[in-house]
Amino acid sequence: QGSLILQLRIAPIAEEYILILADDRTEATRTEEMRNDFVANVSHELKTPVGAISLLAEAIDDAAADEEAVRRFAKRMHKETVRLSALVQDIIELSRLQGTDMVDHAEPVDITELVHDAVEANRLPAERRNITVVVGGSAENPVYADGPMLTTAFRNLIDNAIRYSPEGSQVGVGIRSRDGLAQVTVTDRGPGIAAEDQERVFERFYRIDAARSRNTGGTGLGLSIVKHVVSNHGGEVSLWSQPGQGSTFTVRLPEMEAADNEDTADSPPRI
Ligand code: ADP
Repeated sequence: QGSLILQLRIAPIAEEYILILADDRTEATRTEEMRNDFVANVSHELKTPVGAISLLAEAIDDAAADEEAVRRFAKRMHKETVRLSALVQDIIELSRLQGTDMVDHAEPVDITELVHDAVEANRLPAERRNITVVVGGSAENPVYADGPMLTTAFRNLIDNAIRYSPEGSQVGVGIRSRDGLAQVTVTDRGPGIAAEDQERVFERFYRIDAARSRNTGGTGLGLSIVKHVVSNHGGEVSLWSQPGQGSTFTVRLPEMEAADNEDTADSPPRI
């Protein structure tokens, strides 16, 4: 695109018009392609649980006399329904986030409290896997944010850390302020993520191990939701990982300046 702009400057008016049109079309085509990819992925992802539910319903019908089999099929059907519901919820969340760069209901949010809430929301899955989530530290200033949206992002990171960790291990969550940014780290002792996958895991439906993701209730959308939420708040998310040692996800969000804390709800975002 850099060279195209250079050309535009030296081109005569008529050509300039054509060049701009050509560039616009490329951009539009790319957006269109991305949308088509997303629709294709969504259809594929939805078909799997819907197909399974349909087959299980038939199996239950066929096995009506065998009570034990009916119970087994019903259990699997329930699992598929839970998966379908998580998928639909994440798809809706992601399309909502992609439609806008804005944060709708922003207000000063205590990030320390919010992170503790996100940990608490994951208490049951952690207990089920005998995982201890250790939270430490605090942030100095509030963040101007949509609280529930930001909670979703931290829930997703903590949920991943729990799902990809070995049973009985520890997940660490650290909160601190640094250079005007609230910094939250989520560290696990899971399998880690190889360098070549580290950027791709934030893409929609990208999974390193699809079977593991599905078996643990993953949708393949968690990290792309995190990325969108954080960037909509003017922040960034990064990943450090060493395969075999675990992963650390770090979220950095701009803190409000001390003077902004007094006049609350009406203050403009400092992002
Ligand atoms: P999923 O629902 O599949 O977990 P995500 O978007 O949250 O989807 O993550 C994408 C992929 O990144 C996962 O399928 C998994 O392969 C990898 N991943 C995410 N978090 C971790 C983690 N803490 N440790 C190891 N791998 C992870």
